[in-house]
Amino acid sequence: MGVFSSFRAALPGFRWQNVEERPYKEEGSASFKDISRQVLFDDPALACQLRYFEMKPGGYSTLERHRHVHGVMILRGRGECLVGGEVRQVKPNDLVHIPAMTWHQFRAAPGEAMGFLCMVNAERDRPQLPDAEALKAMRADPRVAAFLDGTSDERPKG
Ligand code: MN
Repeated sequence: MGVFSSFRAALPGFRWQNVEERPYKEEGSASFKDISRQVLFDDPALACQLRYFEMKPGGYSTLERHRHVHGVMILRGRGECLVGGEVRQVKPNDLVHIPAMTWHQFRAAPGEAMGFLCMVNAERDRPQLPDAEALKAMRADPRVAAFLDGTSDERPKG
């Protein structure tokens, strides 16, 4: 990272001056779909980073857990997220706290891109992926199973 001016103007389409749009993670490292990453603040003097992630309609982040934590604010669009055993619909300005060692995943609605700010520890451990047993335990809850299958929106509301 080079040295930035203190000011970076917002650009159309949830982009920022001098902020590069990057791949979410290394391709093939884990399951994810149609998601990009922009690192907004990455000063070594801070103990955290602030990133902006955006998923295309139907896109999703990796289902993972780790010791580091996330503070998330939805910025655009609609979708759902899973935190532990809880599935929630989310909309702009909603806040989502991801505690340590808690399974989590974000999923954009089928017809709508979704973007969120994510604050994270600068120093962090490598995400863990669920094994078959962990997945089976999660799927015991039908709401979680529907989320994991991306079919929550096809379920009757209520
Ligand atoms: Mn994570």
